[in-house]
Amino acid sequence: SIEELCTHLTELHSKSLLSDNDTFLFDCDGVLWNFPQIFTGAIELLNYLTAEGKRLFFVTNNSTKTQDDYAKRFNDIGYNAKPEQIICTAWLTAQYLKSIKFAGKCYVVGMQSMKHELEREGITICGGIGADPLPPDANAVNTNKLEFDKDVDCVISALDLHISYIKILKAATYLNRPNVLFLATNDDASLPQSDETVMPGAGSILSSIATASCRSPTILGKPHAPMFDAIRLAYPDVDPKRTVMIGDRVETDIAFGNRQGATTLLVFSGATSEKDLDTLKQQVEKHAIERDLLPNFCVKDVGQFLRFLES
Ligand code: PLP
Ligand code: CA
Repeated sequence: SIEELCTHLTELHSKSLLSDNDTFLFDCDGVLWNFPQIFTGAIELLNYLTAEGKRLFFVTNNSTKTQDDYAKRFNDIGYNAKPEQIICTAWLTAQYLKSIKFAGKCYVVGMQSMKHELEREGITICGGIGADPLPPDANAVNTNKLEFDKDVDCVISALDLHISYIKILKAATYLNRPNVLFLATNDDASLPQSDETVMPGAGSILSSIATASCRSPTILGKPHAPMFDAIRLAYPDVDPKRTVMIGDRVETDIAFGNRQGATTLLVFSGATSEKDLDTLKQQVEKHAIERDLLPNFCVKDVGQFLRFLES
């Protein structure tokens, strides 16, 4: 029942979470840090759980960094992470293509991180990474002069700071060919930001390509199933029933954990506030929205979770 959801975490619950689970999935931004600010207790919690013999993974929708980039960041801030613990969407895209035995060419709207992870799995990329020269105006786009690859098999949409009219044009043109696969790393509308600036996320770029091509993509990142499928394929002993997902955004992290059968813990240090959660709870009670947005437990931040564990 709904009464059993959104339970405010206590010392007792914390200790049960520890004894009843062996895998902890952490969202990064808004849970462990607001980069460059690392939240108090975050690293200590990771080291505590590791010392208790728990398996930790970091599950992020950010496609602009590789597993190695994240592992380096963790090592720099005091947690000894192996690249294999990083479940980022650049890695995920490569794993997904591998799982479907994809053997063709990809046009990738995205950053170098995408190229790095895809090429590590032997996947061929034919454009889309890096800056394109800009045409002076729309009428000056001389399509005869644009170079198209004759045999693209897949278009991938990720966050790309070099997004341009030409890239959307090429992606949509490829997608209009028969049997071209359309993948997206994630569909976050915007990036987490502490001031009033709106930083367009991967979803904004994805919308432009989807609109131009009249196609809808397979979305790989949270809250979608391919993210968990890739974890289970790479680490078959991960049991969702003995897994906790810790996140700051109900629509991505909590929905993801709940749909996969994990226990979910929402922290109020990021996207979803306590007030937001109260509003959501009321909407679920009125059957206006899905209950898989509601976490099993909620807590102020990871520091509080650690204090409960240590007390
Ligand atoms: N995508 C990008 C490019 C980001 O920089 C971030 C957060 O910094 C995200 C997505 C969301 O990341 P997470 O899933 O770790 O909250
Ligand atoms: Ca987050």
